[in-house]
Parts: sequence; structure tokens; C-alpha cells
Amino acid sequence: MSKKAEQLEKIKADILKQKICPKLAAGATQLVFGDGNPDADLVFIGEAPGKNEDIQGLPFVGAAGKFLNEMLALIGLKREDVYITNIVKYRPPENRDPLPDEKAAFLPFLRSQLLVIKPKIVVTLGRHSMECFLPGLQISNCHGQAKRYKGQVYLPLFHPAAALYNGSMRQTLIDDFMKIPSILAKLT
Ligand code: URA
Repeated sequence: MSKKAEQLEKIKADILKQKICPKLAAGATQLVFGDGNPDADLVFIGEAPGKNEDIQGLPFVGAAGKFLNEMLALIGLKREDVYITNIVKYRPPENRDPLPDEKAAFLPFLRSQLLVIKPKIVVTLGRHSMECFLPGLQISNCHGQAKRYKGQVYLPLFHPAAALYNGSMRQTLIDDFMKIPSILAKLT
């Protein structure tokens, strides 16, 4: 196991040891920590696991995940090339939105994940994820625009689940996604 993979395992173990969000944990099948390459240039951050993620223990493996995989393929990448995680790491009951205290409880661990991986771009998926890192911005105004904040480059995108069945939002998300290679190229 690489050094970074070991460090990530330690963060995962800390979440379990510290019994973060015990109520959510009690209603979930398992912790959905993250998946992919600990050395990735790109980290994708969604909101919270859904039903399929809860069952498999992996982020973005349902319909939204399939769409995310398709968009990755459009820019020549596979899941194994990037790292994918969520703010909240247990499935909320009935897929409700994560609560502010749940997001706050997991944020230090998410920040630790980013400190280990050191991605070139953090791609936030949806409003909840964006607001954790870029407070005060409106997703409708800033989607697809790379932002540098406290030394980290962020790219806020719409959430693939929200865009999946909405024709115009779907195309906007694809168009925004396709900007990733040129943003990356400017950073290297
Ligand atoms: N939606 C998310 O925000 N995260 C997942 O892992 C799956 C769907």
C-alpha cells in the first residue's frame, strides 16, 4: 500500500473510532469513505451516499455515478484515475439532504483527505459540496468557473443526480466537465 493510501486508511479508521454521527451510522449499512487514486490530480466531492453506495460501500455507484463515469470517459479518464468521495459519509435516511451539523462533523475528515491527496483541482458536485469550500457563492452563477481559494483550485459543478434527467442542466454539466482538461493543463 502506498504512503498516501495508508494515510487515507488512518483517516477512515479515525471516523469509525471517534464514532462520528452515530445516529446516521446506526441507520446506514456502512461507512462510504472514498474511492480511487490517492495520487489523483482531481478529487470529486458529492453530498452523501445513496442507496447503492450504502450497499456497496463505494461513492457514486448508482445512476449519478454511471453518469459521472460517462463524463470522465469524455475527457479520457477512468474512475481509477481520480478520487471520489462525499462530504457526509453515511447514507442519510430516505436520501434526505445532509444536515448542517452532519456536514460540519465530517468536514475535518474531508479536509484531511484533501491534505493527503493534494489534488490540483477539487471538483465540487452540487450546492452542498460547493458551500463547504466556497461559502457565499451561488451555483447557478459560478458553475464551470475555476476558483482559487486559500491556495486550492476548485471547480464547482452541478450535481450529476440533479442534471441526469434535466436536458439543459445535463448539457451544461457536460460542457462544464469538458473544461477540466484545459484547467488542468494551465495548472501543470
Ligand atoms: N450522490 C452523491 O452525492 N454521492 C454519492 O455517492 C452518490 C450520489
